[in-house]
Amino acid sequence: MDKQRDFVLRTIEERGVKFVRLWFTDVVGTLKSVAIAPAEVEGAFTEGIGFDGSAIEGLSRTYESDLLAYPDPSTFQTLPWRGDIDPTGRMFCDITTPDGEPAVADPRNVLKRTLARAADRGFTFYTHPEIEFYLLKSSKYGEEGPVPVDSAGYFDNVPGGTAHDFRRRSVRMLEDLGISVEFSHHEAGPGQNEIDLRYADALTTADNIMTFRTVIKEVAIEQGVYATFMPKPFSDKPGSGMHTHLSLFEGDANAFYEPGAQYQLSKIGRQFIAGLLRHSNEISAVTNQFVNSYKRLWGGDEAPSFVCWGHNNRSALVRVPLYKPNKGQSARVEYRAIDSAANPYLAFSLLLAAGMKGIEEGYELPPEAEDDVWALTDSERRALGYSPLPASLDHAIEYMEESELVAETLGEQVYNYVLANKRAEWRDYRSQVTPFELQRNLEIL
Ligand code: GLN
Ligand code: MG
Ligand code: MG
Ligand code: MG
Repeated sequence: MDKQRDFVLRTIEERGVKFVRLWFTDVVGTLKSVAIAPAEVEGAFTEGIGFDGSAIEGLSRTYESDLLAYPDPSTFQTLPWRGDIDPTGRMFCDITTPDGEPAVADPRNVLKRTLARAADRGFTFYTHPEIEFYLLKSSKYGEEGPVPVDSAGYFDNVPGGTAHDFRRRSVRMLEDLGISVEFSHHEAGPGQNEIDLRYADALTTADNIMTFRTVIKEVAIEQGVYATFMPKPFSDKPGSGMHTHLSLFEGDANAFYEPGAQYQLSKIGRQFIAGLLRHSNEISAVTNQFVNSYKRLWGGDEAPSFVCWGHNNRSALVRVPLYKPNKGQSARVEYRAIDSAANPYLAFSLLLAAGMKGIEEGYELPPEAEDDVWALTDSERRALGYSPLPASLDHAIEYMEESELVAETLGEQVYNYVLANKRAEWRDYRSQVTPFELQRNLEIL
C-alpha cells in the first residue's frame, strides 16, 4: 500500500504532474471529479479530501453531508488527452464518513462489499464488457432527430471514415491509461460503434468503464463529433447495449469450466445462470435504469426481451458463448440486457449477487432456449416458460420494490435512493404529451 503511494508521489514529481483529479461516481453513474494540487496528494492519502456529499446524487443524506474522498493509489494514471505539458493525473477514490467508515452510498464501496462476500466463499468475479455507443455529428438535433456520422453497418470497413480514426485514437488512449482493448468495430446502426475491454476483476472493469466513457467523450470533442451512450437514441435503429461476460474464479481455476459437461459448463456455472434468470426482473431498474432503456429492450435488433438462456442463441437474455477447446479459462456467460448507460458498480454488484444466490440456494437451470424466441408466439413462449423482461421502467421499479436481493445488496440507503430517483423519472415521463400522441390523435380526435 505504502509502496503504491510512494510510487504515485514519485511519478507526480518526476513527470511534473500539475493537477491530480480525484474521481468517484454518484449513484446514478455520473463521474465526479475534483482537482487537487500535487502538494495535497500525500495528505489526501492519509486524511482524505473533504467535500459536501449532499450536493451529489444519492451519496449522503443531508444530515450526514460531510464526506471524505480517499484516492486509491493503484488507480493512478495521467490523462493522455491533457497532453504532456503540465500533465494531469487521476485516481479513483473510496468515500468515507468523517469517522472513517466506508460511505454506505458510495457505489464503488457497494461493489467492494459484494465482491468481499463472494471472496468469503472463495470466488473472484471477472467481467468483460462490450460497450456500444453512437457517434453523432452533434448533440444538437432538429426535427429529423440526431444525425449519425456515417451510414455504415456491422463490421463495415469505411474507407477514410470518421469511425476508423475515432476508434484508433480512442483505443490508443485507453491503452495509454492501462486499459486493454480486445476488439473494436463498427456496429449495426449508422454511426454506431463497439469497443470491447479485455476481462479483468469486476472492480477494475467498473473503474475502466467510467474511464472509457470519459475517453470516448473527450475523443469525440477532439474530432468535432459527439458520442452518446444513450440506450436507444433512434426508434428505428439498434440500441446501445453493454453485453457483459461474467465468470467466477476459485484461485486460478475458472469455476464455470467443467470438461465433458454440456457446453463445458460446470454445476456452479449452471446455478449462476439460474440466479441471473430468476432475479433479472428485480435488478432491471439498475441494469437498465432509464425510461429510454426499455425502448432498447423492446425495440428488436438483438436486444433481449425474454428471460431465457441459450448456447450461442442471440435472442436469449443469457448466452453461453462458444470458446476454443483447451481454453477452459475463458468459460463465461454473457448477460445481454445491461445497457451502456448503467452504473457499472451497482449493476455488477447485482449481477454477482443474483448469480451467487443461484449457487447458494442451488437453483435448478431451466432447459435452454433453442429457437429464436422473438419469432415464437406469446402462447408458445408461455408454454416454454420464457417470461418477458419488464416492459417499462415503471414495471422494473415494481419488481425492485419487492426485491430482498436488491435491498440487501445495495444497502438500504442506495436502494431507497434509486427507487425514489426512478419513480421521479417515471412520473416526469408519464406526464409528457409526446409527438407520437399528437401525430396519432390531434387531427382525428
Ligand atoms: N445492439 C444490440 C443490443 O442492444 C446488440 C448487437 C450485438 O452486438 N449483437 O443489445
Ligand atoms: Mg460484440
Ligand atoms: Mg455488439
Ligand atoms: Mg455480445
